[in-house]
Amino acid sequence: MTPSIKLGRLFGIEIGFNWSLIFIFALVTWTLATAVLPANAAGHGALVYWLVGAAGAVLFYMSLLAHELSHALVAVSHGVKVAGITLWLFGGVSRLEGEPTSARSEALIAGVGPLTSLVIAAISVGLFYLTSGNDLLSGLFGWLAFVNLALALFNLVPAFPLDGGRLLSSLLWWRSGSRQRGVHNAVRVGRVFAYLMIAAGVLEVLLGAVFNGVWIAILGWFLLSAGASEEAGSTIRTLLRTVPVSAAMTSPVITLPDWVTVDQFLGSIAPDHSFTTYPVHDPSGKLTGVVRLSDLVRVPSADRSNKHLIDCARLITDVPVSNPREDLAALIQRIGAGLEQRVLVFDNGQLVGIVSPADVARVLTVRQARTGPRQAA
Ligand SMILES: [Zn+2]
Repeated sequence: MTPSIKLGRLFGIEIGFNWSLIFIFALVTWTLATAVLPANAAGHGALVYWLVGAAGAVLFYMSLLAHELSHALVAVSHGVKVAGITLWLFGGVSRLEGEPTSARSEALIAGVGPLTSLVIAAISVGLFYLTSGNDLLSGLFGWLAFVNLALALFNLVPAFPLDGGRLLSSLLWWRSGSRQRGVHNAVRVGRVFAYLMIAAGVLEVLLGAVFNGVWIAILGWFLLSAGASEEAGSTIRTLLRTVPVSAAMTSPVITLPDWVTVDQFLGSIAPDHSFTTYPVHDPSGKLTGVVRLSDLVRVPSADRSNKHLIDCARLITDVPVSNPREDLAALIQRIGAGLEQRVLVFDNGQLVGIVSPADVARVLTVRQARTGPRQAA
């Protein structure tokens, strides 16, 4: 989930929100203004309900933010990089770039979120009693206590990507000594919970509670697919951790003069080589960028004789680099989607290879075939 709008930084962590959040903001305000507040504090004007409702929605999102921020801050203090926090339709997501290095770190990072929500719920209960003279405010804080308690309990359901799934996984990791086995077994437990939720949803639909039933079943299905992708990701990362960049890269590399026209390239260079990516250099031999075959063939034929390779190149300063000894898991964690644009591999200042997503996929296929039977056991 990538943020559509960046709000700024808090404690050094980038906070953003996705447009889908606006619908839930409206829904929360509407629920408060038309149902919760009128039921708890009758006899106020519609405008008052809507204003207090909107304030409630803001408090709700601040609660979500506090929950996510606690994950992010504990992650940072345990050496895990955090790309940022995005608030969206289903709540918040902390985008962690790295992985915790120990079961204890993982448990603390996961556990602090529900704990934060519980603390906010407790504070809200206190405010509920403190504002008992004002029916609107106490109604608002009573509701805030309830939603934060619900948030804490829902997040403790032991299924990925919920905090409960990560807590369970860290516990199983600690007991077995293997992170991958921890994830594997936690996913199995999570699957049981997901199926139970789907079954409960279907039952509710049959009993006539269609809206609730469909909603619970969708959540169950969401947990089911999240568990599967968590396990796939964990397996792939474990495999890639043992593969150095040198085993995946295409080598040697052909570099081309960057002043050659697209026409010349397609006519006399491309037919002789099977590469899909070429670094280009200026007359002094200095690397200036990287061109991709797929970009060059897309240049309209009319422009091919006056466009030079440098005009179609991705500038060298934007190209991620690596060395032959880095492992693929670390590389992918470091550059993420940057791999799409190819990675240049340098050894002692010398260009020795290029890594593309196809290279990584090839290595993965081979490794998976080799370790397949053991993985399934
Ligand atoms: Zn959480």
